Amino acid sequence: MGPNFEGQVMERFLICKNPLCRFVIDLRTKENQIVQLSDLIISQCPDCGYEWSSQCPFCLETLDVTWRESSPICSHCLKALKPDHPEFEQK
Ligand SMILES: [Zn+2]
Ligand SMILES: [Zn+2]
Repeated sequence: MGPNFEGQVMERFLICKNPLCRFVIDLRTKENQIVQLSDLIISQCPDCGYEWSSQCPFCLETLDVTWRESSPICSHCLKALKPDHPEFEQK
């Protein structure tokens, strides 16, 4: 019942802009503080070198991630934040 709701959510998650990668990084520390981007050792995706995005690539809301069975999903549109697989074509 307490007014503990975070009205304005800071960027807590970043996602790699590469649709083939979609590496999600969680910026929260154990103290629930937001890690400054400048404090990050990595300024780019360690996997592919693309820049980070703070928006969901599907609904363009500020990225807010929940986890479903250890896979990250967007808490707005509930789409799985996983890499596209263009080579995977149903035959
Ligand atoms: Zn990447
Ligand atoms: Zn979304």
